[in-house]
Amino acid sequence: ELALNDAKAQGEACVAYDRRAHAHAGLEGALARALERGEFELHFQPMIDVRSRQVVCAEALLRWRSAEHGLQSPGIFMPILERSGQIVEVGAWVLQAACAQAARWGGTRVAVNLSAQQFARSDLRGVVRAALQGSGLEPSCLELEITESLMMQSPERAARVLSEFQADGVRVMLDDFGTGYSSLGYLARFPLSGLKIDRGFVTALQEQPGGRDAAIVRAMVGLSRDLGLELVAEGVETLRQADLLAALGVQVMQGYYFARPTANWQPPRA
Ligand code: C2E
Ligand code: MG
Ligand code: MG
Ligand code: MG
Repeated sequence: ELALNDAKAQGEACVAYDRRAHAHAGLEGALARALERGEFELHFQPMIDVRSRQVVCAEALLRWRSAEHGLQSPGIFMPILERSGQIVEVGAWVLQAACAQAARWGGTRVAVNLSAQQFARSDLRGVVRAALQGSGLEPSCLELEITESLMMQSPERAARVLSEFQADGVRVMLDDFGTGYSSLGYLARFPLSGLKIDRGFVTALQEQPGGRDAAIVRAMVGLSRDLGLELVAEGVETLRQADLLAALGVQVMQGYYFARPTANWQPPRA
């Protein structure tokens, strides 16, 4: 009976596996047509200066509204776009759409996430310039978010690319800061505009306010201040987290506590 159950369990597992593989194949096919069908959209989430209560910037977060599969987040489709190389084309669309939106906001900065594949391409500078020119957005109103791992793949090349963005007047933030492997020395040498403290530190802070993560956040505050970098904490979900961060000297915050990413986000009127 045991053997029979095992066989049955295995059979069920196989069916489930097959269904998942099938669903995945369906996703890939649908994703391949998503751009031409106009199924991608951007949701925006503000970063807020808690002292002045001003919106500093809004981050564009990609969503896929699939006719067959419903509204999907990057966790589901980004790996597929990366693998197929489609992220390059979709990424160019994101840049263009985000710049067009920000041009309508009139002054509020927009942040756009870059993938490793986009960053590796020699035409990135041209793609960014085209998005700015096409929308009429001021370069200083565009902020690109890159991760440490993306920078570390080829530090010398990254330094050159970042210098080009700096020369063009475009800002660059280091996203998910503290989770990757990077040399602190690079922070001083790379022309970065700022750092985004990863959500993991914000969560840990609440669990142990006097713990090691608080010490690290405090060090990040000092480091960014001394290096002239902006500092943003991401993933702030509660008032308590916001209070703890503010007590450590973090002034700009982003997270569900302040606003979830939304499709029709508008900067508040002054
Ligand atoms: P990220 O750039 O670090 O963005 C932050 C993620 O955390 C977003 O997830 C956001 O919706 C979510 N988030 C914001 N506030 C909170 C909070 O208080 N609590 C929690 N638990 N989560 C919060 P999302 O939109 O699913 O995006 C995930 C990742 O996908 C992004 O991480 C980014 O790396 C990537 N991504 C999103 N849009 C794009 C894009 O247009 N291009 C590229 N290359 N990557 C993108
Ligand atoms: Mg980001
Ligand atoms: Mg982030
Ligand atoms: Mg993150």
